[in-house]
Amino acid sequence: MGKVNISSQPQLVKTRDRIREVVALARAEGKRIGLVPTMGALHEGHLSLVVACKAECDVTVVSVFVNQAQFAAGEDFERYPRELAADMEVLGRLGAEWVFAPGQEEMYSDDFSTYVQPPSVADPWEGRCRVNHFRGVATVVLKLMNIIPADTAYFGQKDYQQAVVIRRMVEDLNLPIRLVVCPIVRDQDGLAMSSRNAYLTDSQRVQAKALSQSLARAAELVADGERDAATVTANMRRVVAVAGITRVDYIALVHPETLEEVRTIGGPTVALIAAYVGDTRLIDNRVLELVC
Ligand code: AMP
Repeated sequence: MGKVNISSQPQLVKTRDRIREVVALARAEGKRIGLVPTMGALHEGHLSLVVACKAECDVTVVSVFVNQAQFAAGEDFERYPRELAADMEVLGRLGAEWVFAPGQEEMYSDDFSTYVQPPSVADPWEGRCRVNHFRGVATVVLKLMNIIPADTAYFGQKDYQQAVVIRRMVEDLNLPIRLVVCPIVRDQDGLAMSSRNAYLTDSQRVQAKALSQSLARAAELVADGERDAATVTANMRRVVAVAGITRVDYIALVHPETLEEVRTIGGPTVALIAAYVGDTRLIDNRVLELVC
């Protein structure tokens, strides 16, 4: 394997049995399997995970599944973009071998009732703002890992807390899989790529830059020697307020593993932000490097 199939599309698989079968065959041949879980509407951020997977694995399986269980009532499950044909096209160009795109009923039968109780790092931040979000994420990721027994799974730092939650789950439940977390891919103006950016109007798109700008401000302050977290977050709040963003779910500086809020910056720290631009909820984060 390892060859790039430049023009052909990946194989589309819709059933658990079939993807299990093809992955088992590849494993039996000694091939390294990589899994890239996504909800589709693929952009450069997703594609960076596919590229990382292709570089390390013999067979790349991309899952495309809009997982209702991780959306709270009233969130954007219904209108979430679904673009499987375009996704297949771009995955073909990257040489992904398999796309697993099951229907809802293939993943959640009518009598489905078993969920993963996520680890406590799921409690703050996104967990507090989005009811049962990480329960849904942990459940679908565990299901995908069971259906597609991969050697390595690829996630993005864009969803920082999600990566921490999944790492904890993999350790706690002794799942035989290696995790790779890839850096955030941004547009030229700094906006972190997201399928939800498609919801933004032109003027909202301009406003949305304030999220990454607030993180850049935090990085700048810390690099200049600021160690008081409250001063840094106050500056971040000012940046988003000046851009006209009034609905902020949270802005916080946290420990990179425990996700507990830090008061004094004395070691590796992650700045987190979640805010609404219009009706669109966006998240972003940045690791703040201490310059000693
Ligand atoms: P999603 O389709 O939003 O569930 O995302 C699927 C995977 O792509 C997750 O591991 C995300 O963290 C990752 N991802 C989404 N956006 C980006 C980005 N801008 N840069 C890097 N990874 C990303």
